[in-house]
Amino acid sequence: MGDKINALLTGEELDLVLLDKSRKILRGDIDEKEKDDKEKDDKEKDDKEKVSELHYETKDQALSIIYDGYTSIPKIYHEVFLDPFKKLVQTYDYALIQKALGEQLLLYDLFSCIHQRSTQDLDASHAFEETVSDLYDGYLSNIERSGIKAPDYQAFSPLVIWGKPEAGPYTWPANFGSKLDLQISLVSMPPAYKRNVALWAAIGHEVGGHDILRADIGLLPELGNVVEAKLIEHKNCKHKNCTKLREPVAINGRKDYSLAEFAAQYWRHRIDETASDVCGILNLGPASGFGLALILLSLRKYKLHNSLPAQEAHPFDPLRIILAADVIRGIRALDFQTCNAYADALEYVVRKYGSEAINEGFNLYTMTKNGDYYLEATIPYEGMRETVKIVADVISSTRFKSLEYHSLSEINTWTNSDEILVQRIVNDLLIKNEPPDIQTGPDDQIVYAAHLLAGGIIALMKNGEIEAVSENTIKSLVKLYENNPVWKGFPTHFRGDVYLHSLVPGYKDSIKGQGPVDSRTDER
Ligand SMILES: [Zn+2]
Ligand SMILES: [Zn+2]
Repeated sequence: MGDKINALLTGEELDLVLLDKSRKILRGDIDEKEKDDKEKDDKEKDDKEKVSELHYETKDQALSIIYDGYTSIPKIYHEVFLDPFKKLVQTYDYALIQKALGEQLLLYDLFSCIHQRSTQDLDASHAFEETVSDLYDGYLSNIERSGIKAPDYQAFSPLVIWGKPEAGPYTWPANFGSKLDLQISLVSMPPAYKRNVALWAAIGHEVGGHDILRADIGLLPELGNVVEAKLIEHKNCKHKNCTKLREPVAINGRKDYSLAEFAAQYWRHRIDETASDVCGILNLGPASGFGLALILLSLRKYKLHNSLPAQEAHPFDPLRIILAADVIRGIRALDFQTCNAYADALEYVVRKYGSEAINEGFNLYTMTKNGDYYLEATIPYEGMRETVKIVADVISSTRFKSLEYHSLSEINTWTNSDEILVQRIVNDLLIKNEPPDIQTGPDDQIVYAAHLLAGGIIALMKNGEIEAVSENTIKSLVKLYENNPVWKGFPTHFRGDVYLHSLVPGYKDSIKGQGPVDSRTDER
C-alpha cells in the first residue's frame, strides 16, 4: 500500500505548438468548405460524390432518406425517431415543414444524422456515438441506482451528426422534438474534430451537460435560483474573504450594485452553460477542463477573451477555466493532491493566456447600430474569481429537489479508480503507441468511453501527435461500440439495465486466495 496517483498535466503542455496545430485543424475545415463552395459551380463532381450528397428538397427524397434509416440507424431509435419523422413528412405539406424547420438548420440536421450513417467515415461516427451514449446512459444508470426518477423527456442517448464546420459543437436538447413527437436529441461536432480527440471534450459539455440538464423539467431553474440565492447572501456579509464581493460595480452608469448582487444575476442568466461545464468535469474528469481550454484558445487565437456581449449565454473564457479548476478541487472521490495539481495547472493556463482579464477586468458591451461598442460594465477580476468558488461548489454539491435531493456530484463524479484507468490508457497511447487496451482495470473497473476520451485528451496534450493519438483513441472507442449490445438492437435502454449485482465483493480473488490446491486440481 502507498502508491500515489499523480496529476498527468501541469498546464505547460498547452503550448503554442499544440494550439497552432489545433487551430489549423479547426480552420482547415472552414477553409476547405469555402474552397468547395467556390469549386462547386464550375467543376462537375464525380458520380461517387453525387451519390453521397444529401438531397431532401422534395417529399420523395425526404422519405427515401427516412426509409434508408431503417437499415442504418440502430433499432432502438426506430419507434422514437424514424416512425414519427416519417409520419410527419407523410402527413404535412412538405413545403410547410421546410419552412417551419428548414430555417433553423434542424431539418438539415435530422436528415444528415440518418444519411451520414451510410455515407460518412463510420469509425469516427461510431466512436462519437459510443462516447455520447456512455455519457448519457451512464448518467441514466447512475440515477437509476440512486433511486431517482427517470428524466421527464427522453431515455435514449442522443444521435450524432458531423455538422456544419462553422457552427462548432452544439446540441438539440431532449425537449426540442417533443412537439413533433420526436423523442430524441441530436449532438453535432464539426467534421474536423475527427482528427483531434481533444476537441471531443465538447461532448462532456453538450451531452453530459445540456442534454442531461434539460431532460429534467425544473432542474435548470432550480440550479439558477440556488446559485443566485447563495451569491446574494454575501452582499452584506462581514466575512473577511468577502470584501471583494461587497465592492460596488457600475452598470450602465449606476453604482448601487455590489459585486455579489451583480454576480448573482450574471451566473443565474448563464446557468445552462455554466452547469454544463461543471457536468463535463464530473463526467470526464480533469481532462475536460484542459479540452475546454484547448478549444477556447485555438478558436480565440491563443488569448482568453475578457469582453463579451451583455446578452451572451456563456461566461467569460477565463472564468470557465477557473470554474473547471474549482470543480476539480472539490472532487472528494479523487486524491486531494492530485485534484489540486490539476486545478493549479488550469489556473496556470489562465495566468498565461488570460492576462487581459486579470489586468483589466471583464467587459460587457452592446453593439450600437454604427458598429461601435457601448460599454455596459467593467467588472473586477478578483471579485468575479471569488464568485466562481461559490458557483462551483453550489452546482456540484447542492442537493436539488428536482433530483430527489441528490447532488450532481453524487450522481456522477470522477474517482481515483477512473484516474488509474486513464493513466493506463495514456501509457498505451504514449509509450506503446497503440490503441489503448479496453480490458478491465486492476480493480476490475470497466473501461468506458469517458475513460478513453479522457486518456486521449491527456495523451494528445503531452505529445502533440494529434492525428496518431486521435486515431488510436478512436480505434478503441470503436471496439467499445462493437461490444455494446445496444447498437446490435438488443433492447436495453442504457447500460444500467445490464448491471451485475455481486453478492460478495472480491469473490474471484477470495477463491484464488485459497491457495494453489484448487488451481492444481483444475489442471489435472
Ligand atoms: Zn461572504
Ligand atoms: Zn453550451
